[in-house]
Amino acid sequence: MTKANSSAAHRPATRLSGIALSEIVQISERARQMRAEGRDVIALSTGEPDFPTPPEVIEAAHQAALAGQTRYTPTAGTPDLRAEVARQAGAEPANVIISTGAKQVLANTMLATLNPGDEVIMPAPFWTSYADIVRMAGGTPVVLPCPLSQNFKLTPEQLGDAITPQTRWLMLNSPSNPSGAIYSAEEYAQLADILDAHPHVWVVADEIYEHLSYTPFTSFADAAPHLRDRTIIVNGVSKAWSMTGWRIGWGIGPAELIRDMTSVQGQITSGASSVSQAAALAALQSDRQILEDRRATFLARRDATIDGLNAIPGLTCPAPDGAFYAFPDCSELIEGRFDNDAALCQWLLEETGVALVPGRAFGMPGHVRLSFAYAESQIREALTRMETAIDRLTSAPSA
Ligand code: PMP
Repeated sequence: MTKANSSAAHRPATRLSGIALSEIVQISERARQMRAEGRDVIALSTGEPDFPTPPEVIEAAHQAALAGQTRYTPTAGTPDLRAEVARQAGAEPANVIISTGAKQVLANTMLATLNPGDEVIMPAPFWTSYADIVRMAGGTPVVLPCPLSQNFKLTPEQLGDAITPQTRWLMLNSPSNPSGAIYSAEEYAQLADILDAHPHVWVVADEIYEHLSYTPFTSFADAAPHLRDRTIIVNGVSKAWSMTGWRIGWGIGPAELIRDMTSVQGQITSGASSVSQAAALAALQSDRQILEDRRATFLARRDATIDGLNAIPGLTCPAPDGAFYAFPDCSELIEGRFDNDAALCQWLLEETGVALVPGRAFGMPGHVRLSFAYAESQIREALTRMETAIDRLTSAPSA
């Protein structure tokens, strides 16, 4: 028998230092464990629509597979899907890369452009993966807190003050996960005015929740067309068409950037799934009524969620303009009762069986994120449980 040898121990790469298991995954795992123990858990912690993929999209994938679309695809995407994405965006196919989810588009962007010491400005709250993707690509996240008092949005002053010679990217996300904030055309134009003076700063605009907007949506590409030669728009089918498992997203940007992102993708995953690209093409070409119907359902769920949250003492929650998350400020409730937002989430899960995600996972402590991509009855039940538990807590005489 060989003796245990420490040199055989697993040694993670330094690029992984500081990258922990996502807090969302941890909460979801604890919720799953509680369910296995027979507890009645309502997990409002995950970020995917509860609707099925539209049947005609599934049918298109089926037909594509039967017709032999089962082989490697060109690295940047099938010609048909690239052309359709380009056509709908008013761009050329050379400006489009199809990837394995919007997440891979973000990763490709950073891997293709960042060198050690490069900075990426990200307004907080931001989607949990942003900072870790930047770190894995060797860059440095520069987090700018954008609290509720500024509607969770970056101001031109903040942007101007944060730009250094090392700044490579500004990462924007509208509608935002987790805040639901949407930048208006005017707000984008003001940010673009600042960027005009700093031609070395490029913009990644993540618009994956475009079709889940309850107020008018503007693409950064339309608000600042003169910056298109340094803008990449990120989008995909995951959220709008309930296709999270199909893993198709795309980037639309300058051809030279797309070419380098394609080189990265070519060495990591190659072209995205053939049948999934056929499905995504069918989704893009389908009649959009289903998007409207689903948006209306989400709007009703949003209103039920916001009313319920604001009825709970210690929580303040503005109505999000887009996406399917509420991001209440819980600082009043946390103050003097919990160490932080993560402790509040843990207590809620154990006490009520409701799983939420702490705001610190999004770079904004003192909040929690709750997804309303669930049946309204479930949302109402979760809110009732939360209200009852929090009422009991806040009315208990303090020690
Ligand atoms: N961007 C944001 C803001 C998201 O919320 C998500 C999914 N949670 C993604 C990108 C990733 O999307 P995909 O599943 O297409 O990789």
